[in-house]
Amino acid sequence: ETASSSNFIKQRIDADLAKGTYAQRRWSGEPGLAAAHAAAGADPAKIRTRFPPEPNGYLHVGHAKSICVNFGLAEEYGGVCHMRFDDTNPEKEEQEFVDGILDAVHWLGFHWGKNDENLYHASDYFGWMYEFAVELIKHGDAYVDSQSADEVVRNRGTFQEPGKNSPFRARSVDENLKLFDEMRGGKHGDGTHVLRAKIDMASPNINLRDPALYRIKNAEHHRTGDKWHIYPMYSYAHPIEDALENITHSLCTLEFEDQRPFYDWVLEKIASFGLLQRPLPQQIEFARLNLTYTVMSKRYLKQLVDEKHVDGWADPRMPTIVGMRKRGYPPEAIRLFMERVGVSKADQWIEPSVLEDCVREVLNETVPRRIAVLDPVKLVITNYPEGGGEESHPPNHPQKKEWGARAVPFSRELWIERDDFMEYPAKGFFRLSPGSTVRLKYAYVIRCTGFSKDVSGKVVEVQAEYMPDSKSGTPGADNYKVKGVIHWLCAKAALARDVTLYDRLFKVSHPGKDSGDYLKDLNPDSLKVIRGYVEPSLGTAKEGEALQFERHGYFRAGKDITRIVTLRDSWGK
Ligand code: ATP
Ligand code: MG
Ligand code: MG
Repeated sequence: ETASSSNFIKQRIDADLAKGTYAQRRWSGEPGLAAAHAAAGADPAKIRTRFPPEPNGYLHVGHAKSICVNFGLAEEYGGVCHMRFDDTNPEKEEQEFVDGILDAVHWLGFHWGKNDENLYHASDYFGWMYEFAVELIKHGDAYVDSQSADEVVRNRGTFQEPGKNSPFRARSVDENLKLFDEMRGGKHGDGTHVLRAKIDMASPNINLRDPALYRIKNAEHHRTGDKWHIYPMYSYAHPIEDALENITHSLCTLEFEDQRPFYDWVLEKIASFGLLQRPLPQQIEFARLNLTYTVMSKRYLKQLVDEKHVDGWADPRMPTIVGMRKRGYPPEAIRLFMERVGVSKADQWIEPSVLEDCVREVLNETVPRRIAVLDPVKLVITNYPEGGGEESHPPNHPQKKEWGARAVPFSRELWIERDDFMEYPAKGFFRLSPGSTVRLKYAYVIRCTGFSKDVSGKVVEVQAEYMPDSKSGTPGADNYKVKGVIHWLCAKAALARDVTLYDRLFKVSHPGKDSGDYLKDLNPDSLKVIRGYVEPSLGTAKEGEALQFERHGYFRAGKDITRIVTLRDSWGK
């Protein structure tokens, strides 16, 4: 774990802890609500955050940021982070998404309470949200508006112009109560009325121009059935969810900054009726994570899946958490990445190479080395005995002696990488070319004596002679000074495998920005399958096991081998 540095959210938390902002919970509300608070756990000394996804899709790397911030802070401060499904929309909830979300958070290494006991659903609070709305009406702070949706928009005004009061704004409390009750009971059609807060149609903050609290949706909810015909708006529901769960710091992304005055308005009003306990949760915004060379909006990700540009949500090229997991990114790397990116108040566009570097850093420490020749050409050691053979013993990790070594067979005919030979060596090319001398890693020094081409001019074989006294690990090895070192595999013993090379899904940094259609910017080479050779030990590797192929990068073993990430960033080079 890296020592985590401070940021503006931690400074706020530190200040709250120093002042004891949340140390005292005074409760003066009605017993029923006290129970709701208690059910949400009211440990006064700790901070309480929450991660509130809508269960309508798979989580992506942007959500991972929110997960790491919320669960990470709770962990760091000895607090708790609630897992809350924000299911205020009566849409069909798919169990697949619910399970996927819980699984993703666990995979990243987080828990919602010691025994995952802090799992909540926003829909559990529908009763309280309704009661509070009734109180707002009774206090003259909310009214039923019967303007059409168009009229509501038209009368909202603009940044330059104040809005106009609705003709229904002066309805009596009794009429409002009656209508709101009818709305709840299903007497009115969708869109015929809304309940609005009565704040200020001339407010410079458009979010305070009598925002909607409830809308009619005569729809079934997967958890509450047909009990409700009205559903709360997110901006009204969210502060209440936070308050009922005793959230201390409600962290969200910057686009909610203009909503904060309304968040506070809702809570202050309800608390002033004695129905919520103080201190109230505070909303703090941070910049969302944006990654170049990808798209992150659920709509786009769904389109990629539906139109089969990728192989489902878990395609290893997808920026989803399941995708990154399938790709072989370790959860530690994602957490390291979030730590490195930090939280800020300014929009950030991060290059995928920053994430890839974190993946390399974690895998470098944690996975064994193996050998693969991915673009093979034959090398024949002409002075090595026909039918002869021996073993080399490459270390499983160059810095971890305790990981030991394994046997890799050596013989007269080897596979080497095609680009380790050049008929006409470019300047600075120190590997094989006619007459050059290189070391076969963990084995002998050889001198290139010739090569053969097929009719098309393609090199099909390279010939060399080896120096019998030059084997690595023997005293004679030091007598040879060579500039180039290449890897190899015994042609007879190597295993042929399909190797999938994943690369970035998009070929430009901001898909769709110049082309107008992000699909036009898909990278046609984001998935390439090649036939290569791997060392015999791969025959017993565990399915999915991560390893490094020396000089190539990190891969997952298996029936088919897949690339996690190259050894160094070579994008565009
Ligand atoms: P999307 O529409 O991109 O799928 P969303 O905001 O609709 O995302 P929610 O399920 O509502 O998805 O989000 C759950 C939490 O994750 C919210 O608190 C949201 O602010 C946060 N989140 C979503 N995207 C990002 C991002 N790119 N960076 C940081 N946090 C994010
Ligand atoms: Mg959402
Ligand atoms: Mg969204």
